[in-house]
Amino acid sequence: MPELPDLVHLVKVLAPVLPGRTVVRVAVREPIVLRVLVPGSSFAPALEGRTFAGVERHGPFVRFALDGGLELIVHHMLTGRFQLAPAGSKPLAHLCFSLDLDNSSSLRYGDEKRMGKVYLVREGSREGIPGWREQGVDILSPAFTRESFERLIAGRRDQVRVFVMDQSTLSAIGNAYADEILFAAGIHPKTPCNRLAEERRGRLYEAIRGVIAWGIDEVERAGQPLEDKVRDHVKVRNRLGEPCPVCGTTIRRIGVLGYDAFFCPRCQPAEGTVGGKRAIPW
Ligand SMILES: [Zn+2]
Repeated sequence: MPELPDLVHLVKVLAPVLPGRTVVRVAVREPIVLRVLVPGSSFAPALEGRTFAGVERHGPFVRFALDGGLELIVHHMLTGRFQLAPAGSKPLAHLCFSLDLDNSSSLRYGDEKRMGKVYLVREGSREGIPGWREQGVDILSPAFTRESFERLIAGRRDQVRVFVMDQSTLSAIGNAYADEILFAAGIHPKTPCNRLAEERRGRLYEAIRGVIAWGIDEVERAGQPLEDKVRDHVKVRNRLGEPCPVCGTTIRRIGVLGYDAFFCPRCQPAEGTVGGKRAIPW
């Protein structure tokens, strides 16, 4: 949770309403998620009285600019989520902190596993944020072309699902959309990148673009509150034992470098097999 389409939606919802709003009260319930990287500051006093200037995404991070040269940078990890609601309303589950704003609304952050990180930094001082600098090409940016993709995958020997989720190469694809992308491309998650011929690399590139665009559309269409997880549209992720929506074969799960991957064994046959049967007998 939240993956790229969710973060695009988050920024789309917050960017028009947050700039110009001033934080009037900060309440912290779970300080474990906070990383204050401004010497001599603490979270609540540093934020109270500050006005939001902007919201944008950087890979899997969301960056909130504030006046006075401060930034709040959030990495949601597995279970972090925001809520924008009237001040005084029931907060989302696993509330970590809330920022009451000057228009009687409240921006809240909840995180069941409390693995997310919320950094408070001086504007531009992001060297203390693990992963910020290491992000690869943003797959929603114009820089992510077929040609740049070819350069990135050239020489890679790792399993394709590992490559797709390598954020220092492609920024940023999580577990759910990695499964959906490989399903759309008809590629088994454990296929080594260097076994993919040009035509399949082309299909993978188109699937990355197409599936993320589809995910963004689906999250937009669902129009649910920010704190809700929108995943009803996925075709294979977490659908173990269900029929493949294309061919009816039962969806399987395998481990790829410690992560669960869901796939259709017929639409995504293992290397050396075709249609789920061995192409080369013995
Ligand atoms: Zn299938």
